[in-house]
Amino acid sequence: MSESKSPSLVRRTPWPESTSRPVGTPIQPSVVYASDCPDALDDQYEGRTSGYAYSREGHPNASVLAQKIDGMEGVSGGIITSSGMAAVTAAVLGLLNTGDHIIAGDQLYGRSLRMMNEDLPRFGIGFTLADPTDTAAFEAAIRAETKAILVEVVSNPTLRVADMEGIVRLAKAHGLILMIDNTFTTPRGYSPFEHGADVVIHSVTKLLAGHSDAMLGYVVARDENLQERIATTAITWGMTGSPFDCWLAERGLYSFELRYDRAAESAARLADHLAGLMGVKRVVYPMRSDHPDHNRAVALLSGRGGNMVSFEINGGRDAANTLARAAKNIAFAPTLGDIGTTLSHSASSSHRALSEDQRLALGISQGFFRVSVGVEDIDLLKEEFTEAIEAANATRS
Ligand SMILES: *Cc1c(COP(=O)(O)O)cnc(C)c1O
Repeated sequence: MSESKSPSLVRRTPWPESTSRPVGTPIQPSVVYASDCPDALDDQYEGRTSGYAYSREGHPNASVLAQKIDGMEGVSGGIITSSGMAAVTAAVLGLLNTGDHIIAGDQLYGRSLRMMNEDLPRFGIGFTLADPTDTAAFEAAIRAETKAILVEVVSNPTLRVADMEGIVRLAKAHGLILMIDNTFTTPRGYSPFEHGADVVIHSVTKLLAGHSDAMLGYVVARDENLQERIATTAITWGMTGSPFDCWLAERGLYSFELRYDRAAESAARLADHLAGLMGVKRVVYPMRSDHPDHNRAVALLSGRGGNMVSFEINGGRDAANTLARAAKNIAFAPTLGDIGTTLSHSASSSHRALSEDQRLALGISQGFFRVSVGVEDIDLLKEEFTEAIEAANATRS
């Protein structure tokens, strides 16, 4: 066997020189980075120079994306994680020790609740779930070991608005780390750091990336020491995000404000439209005056009610099946924040682990749907929902 005609094939060809720069962000998938010599590595690890070494610890696409979200939250030093859940996990495991206690909203994202119920006990971390619209319930849950609070500003899927003023006051008075999962509200709807939060978490997968093709999270603490602990946990436990996902999410982020504002405006109009349809029992939208937390929503959410609308139709599972099938151009999918409108049914997805009675106590019947409104034409959306609800009505009669 002869040797390869090109003995240098396995050697990397240098990247072509160019005096001009790419306008689009390049993707840098390299896992490792070569340095000049051991001294150069010392300089880098000891902070005298900046650079990358190994992509689990950081890479340019993560830095670019994190900086953009930092800018939206008015902070610096945030990190990108491999999912929204990785961001929640990095914050909780990075900041809490065995023996500590956390108070969390009782309507958190399903997996966050599962982490509380199933995983924290394995690490000897105590938790209490409480209703975040009721600050007295949070106050009653405080113990000597309580270190942190984790809340979402708007709950899923009943869109209740937490008493953030009361919770911030409580966190300050008791020296608790206030962690806010700002996924639903987004930095455009709510600015946690302006209101006194210590840690902000995002599922970038949802509205920020916005195209259902990248799974990532983001987490940042205002305090540098806390952020160092969270980032080290994320890196050590392998929870950081990939270059390609970061690149996709960054690309999605450029249109985030346009998408969000358009979707929020449509959501308000769709909510009013649904409320006028026969067969719709109830519509939930924070900016509607019939919402239980309407005044709080107006005060907290900078005039935007967000892109999520929930509604309940008369009839049970059969009517729900008919509605989902009839809305054939609207993806029936358990997610939110896509550029297109999606429809989800809490009883068969996010809340399926609960009993029917537990769901009903939350107001989630078999006829309860959640809509993540996208950017398509509002008249088209109204028409599609009208037809789907009429089809569901026909099932019952
Ligand atoms: C989706 C979601 C998460 C989890 O994010 P993933 O990117 O799916 O891991 C966390 N919190 C909220 C509020 C979410 O909607």
